[in-house]
Amino acid sequence: MDWREAQRTGGPTFRFAPSPNGHLHLGNAYSALLNDRLARQAGGRFLLRFEDIDEERCGTAYESVIEADLSWLGLAWETPVRRQSARFADYGIMLDSLVGRSLAYPCFCTRGMIREATRGTRVTDPDGAPLYPGTCRSLSAAERCRRLASPGKRDWRLDMTAALRAVDAPLDWEEIDPDSGASRRIAAEPAAWGDAVIARNATPASYHLCVVVDDADQGVTDVVRGHDLLPATSLHRLLQQLLDLPAPRYRHHRLILDEAGHKLSKSRGAPSLRDLRHAGIEAATVKRRLGF
Ligand code: GLU
Repeated sequence: MDWREAQRTGGPTFRFAPSPNGHLHLGNAYSALLNDRLARQAGGRFLLRFEDIDEERCGTAYESVIEADLSWLGLAWETPVRRQSARFADYGIMLDSLVGRSLAYPCFCTRGMIREATRGTRVTDPDGAPLYPGTCRSLSAAERCRRLASPGKRDWRLDMTAALRAVDAPLDWEEIDPDSGASRRIAAEPAAWGDAVIARNATPASYHLCVVVDDADQGVTDVVRGHDLLPATSLHRLLQQLLDLPAPRYRHHRLILDEAGHKLSKSRGAPSLRDLRHAGIEAATVKRRLGF
């Protein structure tokens, strides 16, 4: 597939990409409605993609509810809907390409080992996880082979230093303000992620790898998602550059907060769209509350 061709011929293409590991809340509804509105304004496509690589936590029961919620909001999307769980072979090819160029390496550390190795340091990645100290980066080839041949957990990590060396120009991206439409360039700072996990044993990919591969493969020209994912875009730009994938335009939108000013989340008990729907609340009321 020629990624650039997909972008050029497909026209403006937007996507809403929930993880079907729970029910949608108002924050997700805002994201979906904004994607849909921008796609319509641009005369473009609106895709739905299920980011279900965590097969233990994701399920088709959630997918059906998400589709019912989105239909209730009046949204329509192209079919068939993409499921990332069907695409592990493609992510594997991308991972192999990074490993083959010594830009990624296997890591055998458990969470506990990393916690132990980073005890006393406060440096975290943008997600708040301890920055990986690089323990497995320096394993010999023979040791790697030996450990890969034995059963047990392994992740694949990007070798950040090697990756940054492999991209010659400074990285940035086009960020468009979703409200004003103003465009600016933001400099990517992927080093803050350290040797990020790009694939896990049980799932031969991670969010960061899958999202850039699928956005390119689906010809996505415009990524519209919550502001909490802004730091991840630095890492995504790096992966796009390493894998020779085109960069979409990005719009990171405001988050919908609860009365206490917290980001809505399933774990904090934010009401789901399904609950609102079942309580007889009108979709128009929800949309008005969100500014649509
Ligand atoms: N699957 C991600 C989520 O549910 C969204 C990813 C994205 O829009 O890039 O938070």
